[in-house]
Amino acid sequence: MDIGEVSTVVPEYLTDCWRWAADKEEMLKGCELKVNTIPAVTRCEDCGAEYGTVRYGRKCPHCGSEHTFLLQGNQVEIKEIEV
Ligand SMILES: [Zn+2]
Repeated sequence: MDIGEVSTVVPEYLTDCWRWAADKEEMLKGCELKVNTIPAVTRCEDCGAEYGTVRYGRKCPHCGSEHTFLLQGNQVEIKEIEV
């Protein structure tokens, strides 16, 4: 599972929920939930720089522009399910 750094999901909480839910189902007993944290990256539209969202927020550290958008880091994806 991929969870973005700035997504609203707290990985620890999700893992706890998974544990609780999986143990209730005979089929899922003992299944592990793997969580990857995806670093949040923001791109500046004015100078094209990419930088860490968590560190610098919406303002580009290279040129000071606020014309930036989140490239990645807010996703919650189920990557693969192993049986
Ligand atoms: Zn910039």
